Amino acid sequence: MARYRGSVCRLCRRETQKLYLKGDRCFSDKCAVERRAYPPGQHGQGRSKLSDYGLQLREKQKVKRMYGLAEKQFHLTYVKATRMRGVTGHSLLQLLETRLDNVVYRLGFANSRSQARHWVRHGHFMVNGRRVDIPSLKVKMGDVVAVREKSRQVAQLKQAMEAVARRQIPAWLEVDAAAFQGTVKALPAREELTMPMQEQLIVELYSR
Ligand code: SF4
Repeated sequence: MARYRGSVCRLCRRETQKLYLKGDRCFSDKCAVERRAYPPGQHGQGRSKLSDYGLQLREKQKVKRMYGLAEKQFHLTYVKATRMRGVTGHSLLQLLETRLDNVVYRLGFANSRSQARHWVRHGHFMVNGRRVDIPSLKVKMGDVVAVREKSRQVAQLKQAMEAVARRQIPAWLEVDAAAFQGTVKALPAREELTMPMQEQLIVELYSR
């Protein structure tokens, strides 16, 4: 699958918003959005007002980049959301939030979603006692996500676990750092997703 290999800070700057793609650096004064809060490129500081389509496109790109998905994957997630009961936009966000790589990140086991995805792919995690290596796996209510016994000695993972106590864990998750595991207490409600996202714009874009 094609993957973006350029500067991720450039993606944040394009959306003129922090997407938190780089872990600790995002909270430091080295953050590129803090330093240059305008889109990259020659015309970055001279762009005019966006059309409705432009606004919808930017919102879709922002959310897609935040969760680190390719267009095809993101669109398939949207199609899945349209087949679910309830508000499509909310279903879309719920599907994105309950991806295993996102849950690993939200539990504080990784510094960023890309690091979480990397570690899941390398088989460092178990769901309900079974080793998994699929970042897009959907977790359900009551699932237990744990670091594999063997992987608990990996220096970076150990470091991340030590920092868990300092992180803000969302209310729909529960973490037990001493046991290297977390539990999905409930599915995330819309109001628990605090990142600025206007999901209705994404639905409008794909419904054109
Ligand atoms: Fe985005 Fe983080 Fe880079 Fe800041 S440091 S621009 S939030 S990826």
